[in-house]
Amino acid sequence: MKTLKDLGNLSGKRVLVRADFNVPLDGTTITDDGRIKAALPTLKALREQGAKVILMAHLGRPKGKVVPELSLAPVAARLGELLGTTVTLAKDTYGEDAQAKAAALNDGDVLLLENVRFNPEETSKDDAERAAYAQKIAALGDVFVSDGFGVVHRAQGSDYDVAKDLPAAAGYLVEKEVTALSKATTNPERPLTVVLGGSKVSDKLGVIKNLLAKADRLVIGGGMVFTFLKAMGYEVGKSLLEEDQIDTVKGYIETAKKNNVEIVLPTDIVAADTFAADSPYEVVAADAIPADKMGLDIGPDSQKLFHDKIVDSKTVVWNGPMGVFEFPNFAAGTKAVAQGLVDATAKGAFTIVGGGDSASAVRHLGFDEKGFSHISTGGGASLELLEGKTLPGLAVLD
Ligand code: AMP
Repeated sequence: MKTLKDLGNLSGKRVLVRADFNVPLDGTTITDDGRIKAALPTLKALREQGAKVILMAHLGRPKGKVVPELSLAPVAARLGELLGTTVTLAKDTYGEDAQAKAAALNDGDVLLLENVRFNPEETSKDDAERAAYAQKIAALGDVFVSDGFGVVHRAQGSDYDVAKDLPAAAGYLVEKEVTALSKATTNPERPLTVVLGGSKVSDKLGVIKNLLAKADRLVIGGGMVFTFLKAMGYEVGKSLLEEDQIDTVKGYIETAKKNNVEIVLPTDIVAADTFAADSPYEVVAADAIPADKMGLDIGPDSQKLFHDKIVDSKTVVWNGPMGVFEFPNFAAGTKAVAQGLVDATAKGAFTIVGGGDSASAVRHLGFDEKGFSHISTGGGASLELLEGKTLPGLAVLD
């Protein structure tokens, strides 16, 4: 994979950068600017070299239409604050306004093109349509830097097709993400423990399958654990369950035994009456969930078990919350796992928080990001790397 240094001196060059600025918004207020901050090393390096920076990004799912609420204006403002400069926002992605503003850039200036997903071509399944669109964007720049790790698993106009039209390389964020995730999966220091949670087991089948050949230990929590408990023959009450995955999960449990991979499941569960923040709840044994209750978190014994298994590791990869952490009464399991990673890091382990919900859980629960070796910015992309897949947005940079 080509990286920034392969592009040579970029002084005076127009550098198109795909970034991941898909931040959570409350109205026009950015509630978590982690992804904007993650783009800063590349942007600072480009400005220091005297490049003219032209940024592309998406926000939300406007589905090929201009949706004013999904304008990148709040991102331009926040990025400007973080960089200490004015970030100009173009009214379109490749139209007259983008062209005029790109032409007016001085060395070190930063222009943000409007939400690429306002254009239906960006995510078109028609390769020719996407390619023609990408050429119009590519005409704005001299070189392309791919730094939107959150989108590299998708072959879309602004991360994949543009890379074919210009000299292209990975930015520092993409380079850092790929290095961290490969360090964990290719020749990791052992034991390698992978902690998986989140709502659905069906989202993570590929990851589990791939890791059954690589990890020493799989620790399972979150909504997906109930399909495992059911596969073990336990009743799970009203908990989240994917009936159609029970057989697959049984197969995984068998493979794990064969491969000597330890599967760690919770021994107790916080079981609630309803899916609500203020629902009454009790702690029950994992093999005795009452028929009228739903498991919303792992119980206190499991929290300690999971924590200890994590601390007893040299490499840890975590993806997915252990419970409904958005409700404070059901956040303790996710906190215990996050604390496990922090304690493992302090003992010299290499620890990765997979993107998406686990990364936001870590921030939401007030953990210092420095306590982890790496917090990924891309949920889907990091999962696909863990699955061992080839990611189109990375392959195109080879
Ligand atoms: P995912 O998008 O697959 O990473 O799943 C994240 C979501 O899973 C979070 O919003 C959690 O609230 C939810 N979740 C975690 N544990 C449970 C559970 N036991 N029951 C229902 N939802 C859960």
